[in-house]
Amino acid sequence: MTDTTITAISSAQAEAGIGVIRISGPESLNIAKKITNRSELKNRYMHYCKIMQGDKIVDEALVCYMQQPHTYTGEDVVEIQCHGSSASLKEILSMILDAGAEMAEPGEFTKRAFLNGKMDLSQAEAVIDLIKAKTKRSLGLAAKQLGGALSKEVSGIRDELKELLIQLTVNMDYPDEDIEEITYNKIEDSLSSINDEIFKLIAQSDEGKILREGLSVAIIGKPNVGKSSLMNIFMGEERSIVTSVAGTTRDTIEESAQIRGIPIRLIDTAGIHQSEDIVEKIGIEKSKQAFESAQLVLLILDSSKKLSDEDRELINASKDSDVIVVLNKTDLPSEIDEDELKDIKLIKTSFTNNEGIDDLKDAIEEYIKSGSSESRIDPVISNIRHINLVKLANAEIAQALEMCRAKEAIDFIEINVKAAFDYLGEISGDTASGEIIDEIFSRFCLGK
Ligand code: GDP
Repeated sequence: MTDTTITAISSAQAEAGIGVIRISGPESLNIAKKITNRSELKNRYMHYCKIMQGDKIVDEALVCYMQQPHTYTGEDVVEIQCHGSSASLKEILSMILDAGAEMAEPGEFTKRAFLNGKMDLSQAEAVIDLIKAKTKRSLGLAAKQLGGALSKEVSGIRDELKELLIQLTVNMDYPDEDIEEITYNKIEDSLSSINDEIFKLIAQSDEGKILREGLSVAIIGKPNVGKSSLMNIFMGEERSIVTSVAGTTRDTIEESAQIRGIPIRLIDTAGIHQSEDIVEKIGIEKSKQAFESAQLVLLILDSSKKLSDEDRELINASKDSDVIVVLNKTDLPSEIDEDELKDIKLIKTSFTNNEGIDDLKDAIEEYIKSGSSESRIDPVISNIRHINLVKLANAEIAQALEMCRAKEAIDFIEINVKAAFDYLGEISGDTASGEIIDEIFSRFCLGK
């Protein structure tokens, strides 16, 4: 437990009815008494106070003192709800600092909660996600992680690894003792079952990642098919300039939007088409890059025109990507030869008449939910740091399995098992270095 007392403004710095200042540490109560007209503050009571600077009333506030250890940080905490003007908040904050508190670093309250064992590292990271959640679904995911869903899974796997490590060590250190000798078959059984569990976590991770970071969607098509119009529909406002002159959307624009609560990153591109225009060509290159880097491609075709070679080139190029083909402008007389497209699942739309948009949204949602495993709908793991660590642990286990099958010395197998154990420990923070911990908390906002 630290002996410093920290403080920060915890509410947003904007004009508001109420603002919140938080204090945490051993001097919290004393400081609260110093700056208010109260000589006593009862534990867990809201007290109506006057914030006093000498004889001058600075503000009126509700002050709550919470005695450790059952607080967010695990330390004594005081929360002051004053008027939300920045003048009032700053004035009170400076009084608290004068009374002996130190300015908190970003995330320091939560860091203290972690260091005092109130939550593990993955839960602390869930706090960041909760604060930054942009959709209801990412909020739900963060809340689940804060509730300890991931911690539970990871600690279960770590327990199994620990059990295996004990057996391996005992066999290495006391080979002559009268203890049950561990056989390669037994090691292989344990490793396979651990491998399966880790693999399940990885399989579940993709949708989690999408919910946190958004699905990257590239809108592809030759000029004038309706890419910008679709982008505007998804954005719900006029973002890219829609014009009927072919080739006006020249640059790649990335915008975030959401479809049914799923955050998406839309990449609007100039159409891929054969052009001599230099500016246009830059757009085309970017378009091709987007094609390669996006998770999902929406290929737009114009049903009021005959299929061109460019369309065919795009259809061919998209065959290796995850693609949804959209046949737009169905409000106009059809010119396209649908026979040529009979092997492709088409979503028919008219962006100008707002037709077929729901079908398209269904298809996108379907794409996210259809995965190798049904459990992807309910992911446990969503943070890139966690996913990477699980993958590293997985690689160690795979290597251990290989060595076990080759009947290599137990000592070598033990090294990989230990490494996997440590990687998973970095998720909960048990084996994370101070540097990693600092890095994580630096991403917090001030006052949390
Ligand atoms: P982009 O070049 O692919 O980005 O295409 P735009 O979104 O700029 O659209 C080009 C033109 O086609 C604009 O005049 C749009 O209003 C029009 N347009 C887009 N979708 C439709 C549609 O479904 N039906 C009709 N009739 N016109 C459309």
